[in-house]
Amino acid sequence: MKAAILQTPGQLDLVDLVIDKPAAHEVLIRVVGSGLCHSDLHAIDAQVPNRPIIVPGHEASGIVEQVGSEVTYVQPGDHVITFLVQFCGECEYCLGGRPTICATPVGARKPDAAATAPNPRLTYQGKPVGQFANLGAFAEQMLVHEHAVAKIDRDYPMDRAAIIGCGVCTGLGSVLKSAAVRPGSTVAVVGGGGVGLSAVQGARLAGARRIILVDIQPEKFDLARKAGATDCVDPGQGDPVQQIKDLTGGGVDYSFECLGLKATCEQSVQMLRPGGVATIIGLGGRHLPAARRAARAGRLHGLQQLPRRHAQIHGSRPPGPPRHRLPDREPHRPRRYQRRLRGHAPTPDTGPPGDHVSAVTVPRRRRSERKNCKISAYY
Ligand SMILES: [Zn+2]
Ligand SMILES: [Zn+2]
Repeated sequence: MKAAILQTPGQLDLVDLVIDKPAAHEVLIRVVGSGLCHSDLHAIDAQVPNRPIIVPGHEASGIVEQVGSEVTYVQPGDHVITFLVQFCGECEYCLGGRPTICATPVGARKPDAAATAPNPRLTYQGKPVGQFANLGAFAEQMLVHEHAVAKIDRDYPMDRAAIIGCGVCTGLGSVLKSAAVRPGSTVAVVGGGGVGLSAVQGARLAGARRIILVDIQPEKFDLARKAGATDCVDPGQGDPVQQIKDLTGGGVDYSFECLGLKATCEQSVQMLRPGGVATIIGLGGRHLPAARRAARAGRLHGLQQLPRRHAQIHGSRPPGPPRHRLPDREPHRPRRYQRRLRGHAPTPDTGPPGDHVSAVTVPRRRRSERKNCKISAYY
């Protein structure tokens, strides 16, 4: 089967791959649609020496062609979309209704009892080929674990169904699940791409009374209004934080950052009203290890509340280094104003100094405003 493989940074090669037969819990899919997520672009552009060959692509729709002997959920002919999180269904998180933080994901092939290494699903010229997110959607066929697929109606258009697997889930999930936006609240979404527009739709579904999209490209505003935005803010027309405060009389209840830039992460916190919640969705690329860790650990709390401006990540993981000073310490400020993470701190390899998303600099608020604002990371 034909697939686009990544063996040289910045370049995809269209080649013929050999694809294995489904193992007991695997499903072979004929790919019909595939989205191009920015995470794919991060992977394609990343300068990683000696990286194994992979097939990028992780949001796909297709038709089941073949199933393994233990698969009962789907059968050949079913229309499906694929998912990034291949939950085990047995750990305490899965059984507790939180499969996105499954402790033992099952997406990759495990070695047979007799073999030391798993039999690869894909091979190119005799060498094993990896699958981005254990999916590899830039191909004619995908061989994935049965927990990587969800059935859809047969009359649902496949080209649109594909993006549900990542972009739509990410935007909707962050609004409806992570932040749990309440009806009647005010929401700002920073970044009007696929994830941002999905967040706008999620806010509309949640019953938010005011939904503000912030984007530097005003040509996106018409589509945003169709998706449910009540107002649009162009940062080219002035400080977006001030514009939002003017529109809402002081700030929004919820903000969603969908870009992953330090400046917009900061603005997402600054545009909150007291008690508001900022959800940083745009964690990717070099931020991914820290994002995963933050998402698994829990939430970042108390940036506004604690007088010395520490962030704490609450979670059940074993304690990490006792304290970690974030890399973008501003030298002109007294040390007590610098925020640090306690416990589950990001490791220094997660990005260059000054560009780490955890190092959001939030202006010191008046004491009366320090009311339980929080940041949550969604992954
Ligand atoms: Zn994606
Ligand atoms: Zn699990």
